Amino acid sequence: MNDKTVAIIGAGPVGLAAAAHVLERGMSPIVLEAGPQAAHAVRQWQHVQLFSPWEYNVDKAAARLLAPTGWNSPDPQSYPTGGELIDQYLDPLATRTPLREVIRTSSRVTAISRAGFDKAKTKGREQAPFEIRYQNGKGPEVLRADAVIDVSGTWFSPNPAGSNGLPAIGEREHADRIAYGMPDVCGTHHARHAGKAVAVLGAGHSAVGTLIDLVQLAEEVPGTQAIWLLRGADPAKAFGGGSNDKLAARGELGSHFAALVAAGKIRVETGFGVTHISDSGGRLKILAGACCGARSVVADELVVSTGFRPDLSFLSELRLRLDPAIEAPAALAPLIDPNEHSCGTVRPHGARELAHDEPGFYLAGMKSYGRAPTFLMMTGYEQVRSVVADIAGDKKAAARVELVLPETGVCTRGGVESGAAAGCCGGPAKDEASACCAADETAKKAGSAGCGCS
Ligand SMILES: Cc1cc2nc3c(=O)[nH]c(=O)nc-3n(C[C@H](O)[C@H](O)[C@H](O)COP(=O)(O)OP(=O)(O)OC[C@H]3O[C@@H](n4cnc5c(N)ncnc54)[C@H](O)[C@@H]3O)c2cc1C
Repeated sequence: MNDKTVAIIGAGPVGLAAAAHVLERGMSPIVLEAGPQAAHAVRQWQHVQLFSPWEYNVDKAAARLLAPTGWNSPDPQSYPTGGELIDQYLDPLATRTPLREVIRTSSRVTAISRAGFDKAKTKGREQAPFEIRYQNGKGPEVLRADAVIDVSGTWFSPNPAGSNGLPAIGEREHADRIAYGMPDVCGTHHARHAGKAVAVLGAGHSAVGTLIDLVQLAEEVPGTQAIWLLRGADPAKAFGGGSNDKLAARGELGSHFAALVAAGKIRVETGFGVTHISDSGGRLKILAGACCGARSVVADELVVSTGFRPDLSFLSELRLRLDPAIEAPAALAPLIDPNEHSCGTVRPHGARELAHDEPGFYLAGMKSYGRAPTFLMMTGYEQVRSVVADIAGDKKAAARVELVLPETGVCTRGGVESGAAAGCCGGPAKDEASACCAADETAKKAGSAGCGCS
């Protein structure tokens, strides 16, 4: 069983952890990374302070691989920035351990199939190796592998500004004044944002973090203005679980943001579903709604922080079982779907929930959450521990849960957050794959079909 080759797409924190687990089980990992170095996506947000402390950011198999190199484990209680995560953990892991021999950088995966089997052909399919096409400086290359773990993240496929999920009309034409995700407005992008009116669209952690940074920038550079555009009607939904959040820094971020909004440091435009972006005397006119009911905001710059979506384009020859709305594996989607009941923190899950109708292929890491928010690295580490055990044939270890996730303190039912209820619905479910929380699990075990919490 142990002579398997496992292709890992993406050398982010979860991809590197997957490779460490594959090595530990005596199999052969090959990591294909599109960027010039490992952790290419984290490098784009290295200015960001993580809300999870070191104890949650280091994978156990990766730590075991690092130990003989003389690596000093960082203080488990302190909070790194993205840059420190790279310097103190991801770079040493990628360059000073045996992983350095198996990472192929500047190697972008463009397509995956099974040797001799198109998507429609079934008989004997499971025995056929995967064929992974990728591009590097030398041209197209092909790799064969027994299993594939796609951990290519979602950072490079951000959602557009349009409230209908499409780019707003005019968005592409004004790309020179629009940034996505979480630009470093106080650092590398200082000149672009200082002294400007900057609109930030979104209500997740990236939007909140950018708005907090803009308030700080406004204190340093007069004339800087932070404008918050949110699609929903209730700003409080972005304030998180506060002191009920078991990740203290994540709770504090929301509380700090709430205080800045209450103090009037941020102009707030609720119910702002962007439809058009146009020019207005050299500035950006951002329009919400159509025709008579339309409202507009004029700003110098727009930051679109409306979340991310998975790039599924190179997976079209594989038999995926994805939720049509969330674009996450079908068994995982109900646990993280913001439209349904959700505790914000999904219970730990692994090979069982991440399986597709394509044995040997798994989506893991940030990409496994599809369009849903609140992914944590530690969730990804547990995913790949279980997935790699499954690939190695250790079904018992694959089914075991080795993680307790910190609750967000936020409970959502039918898309409505019910505030910071401590121990939301009893916390995450423990065993039942389809249950969204402990109370739901109990209800399902008792024979109820729906959510036992409402
Ligand atoms: C701003 C921000 C802050 C966050 N803060 C936290 C936090 O505090 N705590 C926490 O637990 N989580 C946090 N997260 C969430 C999540 O844990 C991180 O995004 C984490 O980096 C996800 O790891 P990953 O390995 O799944 O994906 P990524 O880190 O995105 O890595 C994916 C890799 O795949 C590569 N790739 C992409 N496409 C291809 C391709 N076609 N071929 C080959 N390679 C490809 C990319 O270049 C990248 O290196 C944060 C996320 C963001 C965006």
